Amino acid sequence: MSDDQPGMRKKFQLINGSALGGSTRINQMLYLRGVKQEYDMWAESGCKGWGWNDVEPFFKKSERFLDGNGDLTSHGTKGEWRNRTGPLVFPGFRQLVESCKNLSLPYIDDFNSEKNPDIGCGRLHFTRDENQHRNSTYYAFLPSRLVSQRPNLHILTNTIAEKLIIGKGNNGPAVKGVQVSSRLVSQRKIVTCELEVVVCAGPFGSPQILMLSGIGPAQHLKELGIQVHKDLPVGENLQDHFAVSIAQRIPMSHSLVSLETRPWIFLVELIKWLIWGTGMLLAPVLQLAVFASSSLLDDEGRPIPGKQGNSDEIPDVEIMPMAYDSSDLGFDKSRGVFSFLCVLLRPKSKGTVRLAFNAFDAPLRVDPRYLSNPDDFLPLRAVLKLALRIGEDMRASGYPIEDWKSEMPQDEDDASLDKFIQWRNRTTYHYSSTCRMGPREDIPDGGAVVDEQLRVFGVNKLRVADSSVFPWVLGTHLQAPTVMVAEKCAHMMLNPKND
Ligand SMILES: Cc1cc2nc3c(=O)[nH]c(=O)nc-3n(C[C@H](O)[C@H](O)[C@H](O)COP(=O)(O)OP(=O)(O)OC[C@H]3O[C@@H](n4cnc5c(N)ncnc54)[C@H](O)[C@@H]3O)c2cc1C
Repeated sequence: MSDDQPGMRKKFQLINGSALGGSTRINQMLYLRGVKQEYDMWAESGCKGWGWNDVEPFFKKSERFLDGNGDLTSHGTKGEWRNRTGPLVFPGFRQLVESCKNLSLPYIDDFNSEKNPDIGCGRLHFTRDENQHRNSTYYAFLPSRLVSQRPNLHILTNTIAEKLIIGKGNNGPAVKGVQVSSRLVSQRKIVTCELEVVVCAGPFGSPQILMLSGIGPAQHLKELGIQVHKDLPVGENLQDHFAVSIAQRIPMSHSLVSLETRPWIFLVELIKWLIWGTGMLLAPVLQLAVFASSSLLDDEGRPIPGKQGNSDEIPDVEIMPMAYDSSDLGFDKSRGVFSFLCVLLRPKSKGTVRLAFNAFDAPLRVDPRYLSNPDDFLPLRAVLKLALRIGEDMRASGYPIEDWKSEMPQDEDDASLDKFIQWRNRTTYHYSSTCRMGPREDIPDGGAVVDEQLRVFGVNKLRVADSSVFPWVLGTHLQAPTVMVAEKCAHMMLNPKND
């Protein structure tokens, strides 16, 4: 749970996968790389070697794109990690594509192809395999055949990395090993290291391990009685994609709600899936996304004609349409639901991850400080209006979607929209940047923890490689960029540079 968020009178459930493969074992499986300009912005901000041309080969390296008729020049086809798309299952999604076109948002067949615009309504890819099963990073990269062939690979399951053992190196502190303990029995060990340790415990776990090891904000560590080895802004710069959900009513048969409330529909869909491998049971809760730049929307949320596709703007908002409710508040299931989860892709608000105690098993104090920067309201107001315009066009085009007044903004003035934003909101689980990569000069400004080789500043033999190193939260979904970071980290370790 997060700390209380002022103005929202609630804590946020910050879910994470805790298994081999991390959150890719439980996530929505959306596979998106984000826009190439953003990686060029990373490079311009001082992360040398992380521009689009540098990172693209690492996306392709792990990718096995299964849709043979797609744009194969933009995709990898020989990697281990499968992704594919599929037909749009729900009628509302098909109408949404048409309504976006009516509003000058083009249809994008493949968001991961460079040939397509970044702004528009497009079909999503999912990390599913040839048999339509979830292809988590665990299944993709750690298949049992590989594990059995590698005598030098040791996997400790049900094991917690408590902290790093840090001693003296030739030029400052150096990692000597990792202290681990069993989750099942009272047993603790030290695993020593000859070359280096790569921490990849995610946006909460990595800062936790570093801070418990004495690498983090000196004042905070001293208050908890932890010996400081390196004063660094670990746990600062937490960012996440905050989102607001609008819900509308549709016929029950058009909505995933039917599977929960109509046992016979579930049975029919089960039979379809068992016999033909088709139907609603294969339908991810969302199959499309709308990406837009709020600066290209007018005061009513309509795309300004002629501007989409003709500007250097990159998306700062996303709509995830779902044939289900997308809030985390619970809802009335007497009718079908179509919702628009409106996501802030480039938040200016930043939060923190802190230790509550000097103990590996104590819960963390996570304060995302959602909306603490008032600028974050602007794109959210714009994307809510865009969602309302799409809903209106769907209805005007004859699709049976009805307003659900209690789950929509009461009005479109700023005050009404802000009230709605502070109420019907949630996380999209895209936490990041708590061990941020950046140039050394950023350290005093609360910036960087790792350099462009992912090495922790001032601590030898230590790297971090996961979503905590993103210089800022990318304006996309994070699993594909996280795997790209892992591929690039492996490459850098195998081809070391001494700078
Ligand atoms: C519900 C949900 C839905 C999502 N949907 C999508 C989606 O559809 N598409 C997308 O691109 N992204 C999605 N994401 C986000 C994406 O899955 C994450 O951004 C990505 O998995 C981050 O990878 P990571 O390796 O940084 O961290 P994680 O995936 O969190 O992995 C970290 C791992 O480290 C382990 N760990 C932590 N601390 C320790 C410790 N001390 N000792 C040992 N192990 C430890 C954790 O148990 C976990 O297994 C979703 C996330 C969630 C939670």
